[in-house]
Amino acid sequence: MAIQKKLSLMIPGPTPVPERVLQALGSHPIGHRSKDFQNIVSSTSENLKWLHQTQNDVLTITGSGTAAMEAGIINTLSKGDTVICGENGKFGERWVKVANSFGLKVITIKAEWGKPLNPNDFKEILEKDHKKEIKAVILTHSETSTGVINDLEKISSYIQNHNHALSIVDCVTSIGACNVATDDWKLDIVASGSQKGYMIPPGLSFVSVSDKAWKACETSDLPKFYLDLKSYKKSLLSDSNPFTPAVNLFFALDEALKMMREEGLQNIFARHERHKRAISYAMQALDLKLFAKDNHLSPSVTAIETKSFDAELFRKLIKEKYDILLAGGQDHLKGKIFRIGHLGYINDKDIISVISAVGLTLIEESNLSNDSLGKALKKAKACLMQ
Ligand SMILES: *Cc1c(COP(=O)(O)O)cnc(C)c1O
Repeated sequence: MAIQKKLSLMIPGPTPVPERVLQALGSHPIGHRSKDFQNIVSSTSENLKWLHQTQNDVLTITGSGTAAMEAGIINTLSKGDTVICGENGKFGERWVKVANSFGLKVITIKAEWGKPLNPNDFKEILEKDHKKEIKAVILTHSETSTGVINDLEKISSYIQNHNHALSIVDCVTSIGACNVATDDWKLDIVASGSQKGYMIPPGLSFVSVSDKAWKACETSDLPKFYLDLKSYKKSLLSDSNPFTPAVNLFFALDEALKMMREEGLQNIFARHERHKRAISYAMQALDLKLFAKDNHLSPSVTAIETKSFDAELFRKLIKEKYDILLAGGQDHLKGKIFRIGHLGYINDKDIISVISAVGLTLIEESNLSNDSLGKALKKAKACLMQ
């Protein structure tokens, strides 16, 4: 019988929350207009800039990651503007839907689910746009639905060459997992959410805004009120929020960012890289196939094909027997893949446990040999020791 309270979340959000952060979350709320709260906002906004590797404003919105992306889109664009949307998974699809809902003209650049977006497709369309009609390029860095990472640095360099369009990027499962060099790559809008690499529960989202994007805000005519970024910028000047923020989540954010600073950015990235490699090598040693092609693997989630068995049943067994929650496939991938989240507060023990659980279940339920699990763990160990 599963002990639910010890359930390991190995899904790409919500991710596990460290004890230090849970304790911060459990304090009594304080007034959001108090000096004490201002001190917290001052500390979190400084540390958010550090995490985003930027001098830009990083604004915090009480809402999920989608709120941050939608805010980026509706604050910088106007009715009838032309935008490029990169779409190679469920989240790419979502940004096309948001852009369409606000009456934007969308040029979609697609790649098959499981494959990365081709940067040259962006280059071609941007180079042909002599009239500078394209106002923004909207894309997802780490496509959580398929476990694919897109080459944001390269695509951003083509946006720079265009010299007119803004970049609006979903970095929800890349911030706090791998390098997102906001200033070096000249990213205009970077959106993310608290339940992913931040190691806190769902409820806050973050959006960094470049000077170029602020200029675009001045002429943007799309309707907005709660998500009007200018009001967030104005209140940030006095370390405050335009509305009542999720006060306790700010306590959690402050603690989580302190933990991240203690670990250091490079160490955080290296840990995610080790875990990603360990999982990908071990799964292949268990005779499973990775869904993401050409080694464009997301640092935070690995999608695995299940040709010979039902992925949903498999996930159910792993949850019941081992108290580990894995994610399933979305839309046409339901039942065909399962996904292992290795984002945020994840350690080597979690990685070894999930590999063992997958291996043991395959040995029991299919005819995987006992040796394969040993081999998989050996592969994982080699990656974890690096
Ligand atoms: C989780 C996630 C989001 C945000 O989803 P919300 O449910 O709105 O928090 C956006 N993009 C990606 C790639 C994600 O993984």
